[in-house]
Amino acid sequence: MAPPTRPRSGREKYRQRALDLMSAHPLIDTHVDLPLILRAVNRNPVEGAEQIAGPYPGHVDVPRMRQGKLGGIFMAVWLPCRPGTDYCLPSDDVRDALEQVDQIQLIMREKDFQYARNSEDTLKAFKAGKFATFIGVEGGHMLGNSLSILRIWAQLGVRYITLTHTGHNAFASSAGSGDPLDPVHPGNGLSELGKELIKEMNRTGIMIDLSHVSDETMRQSIQLSKAPVLFSHSNARTLCDHPRNIPDDVLDMIGSEEGKNNGVIHCVFCDKFVGLEDPTLEKVADHIEYIAKKCGKAHVGIGSDFDGIDYSVEGLEDATKYPDLISEMMARGWTDEEIIGLMGGNLMGVMDEVDRVQQQLKDQKPSGAVYDQRTDLPGIWLENLPQLARTHLEERNK
Ligand SMILES: [Zn+2]
Repeated sequence: MAPPTRPRSGREKYRQRALDLMSAHPLIDTHVDLPLILRAVNRNPVEGAEQIAGPYPGHVDVPRMRQGKLGGIFMAVWLPCRPGTDYCLPSDDVRDALEQVDQIQLIMREKDFQYARNSEDTLKAFKAGKFATFIGVEGGHMLGNSLSILRIWAQLGVRYITLTHTGHNAFASSAGSGDPLDPVHPGNGLSELGKELIKEMNRTGIMIDLSHVSDETMRQSIQLSKAPVLFSHSNARTLCDHPRNIPDDVLDMIGSEEGKNNGVIHCVFCDKFVGLEDPTLEKVADHIEYIAKKCGKAHVGIGSDFDGIDYSVEGLEDATKYPDLISEMMARGWTDEEIIGLMGGNLMGVMDEVDRVQQQLKDQKPSGAVYDQRTDLPGIWLENLPQLARTHLEERNK
């Protein structure tokens, strides 16, 4: 049964202004799990890409995205973390993640969508009446413990990687899904390989997404990164005490002031991270305002987690509802300029700055770090080696 609709904050009178602004400037949602639904509903990825043009299960499809005046969408590549702490166990994670990248690329071929990676692409797609479409990989477990895979993700146009999902991995410690996890890395932060990952993400221009990671992973990553960081779908812990949300001391590290990271925090609609007691659109707006007060209005955005959550909040039930949130911010006195930033302007600035850092670092030597638990490297197919190489190894190993 749908919850009763309560009287709103008077935002109705801002609706037309919101719609006009959203027609002129893109709202970019940094976290939508549509590939997860496509993978569950369609065995055939080509059919799935076509079918979202009409009504489709979940929170998101083209008609509802149009109605909600969505401008850009980050589609998440996601797989559940496997239990345990032996990250070298054989898995299909990299294959399944690659299949989802392919799924998103198939969607980009459809008439309503267009590939995007930076602000220029975003504006080009928006002007052409298409959804600017980005790839995000939600979880370092899909890197197969390998910086080589990271470099390939970069070539495929992956725009962000969330360092963990709800489990730790070879690179970083996770916030878990509620109950604290036993630490596996020193201080429950980054591993040595994880520190290399941060540098390599800076060098390859992939945004470092710190949603889902442990507090210490957040702190260490922000300290290490030469580029602005992203929280693709997180809220403020002071307003909703959940380990997935961001503590104040980390919020204090983000901002425009000298010495702070110029990153952006996109607020999430998931009821558990908004506040389980009476989760509403107004409470999402409270999180946005709280983070804006701590970090500045240039450091907030929207990352719904549509299609990845059981329950969104009252008032933000699916992709048709973005204009209501924008009207709410107008009712709270946000100027058009501030809202253009909230909708996507802030994020576009971050993407451009991440690309500038990539340009500065492009001649830096790639990281040769290899996960210390790997026993399969160097490759040992001795019987397949040419005699010259075998002789070399025999000499060396004497
Ligand atoms: Zn998530």
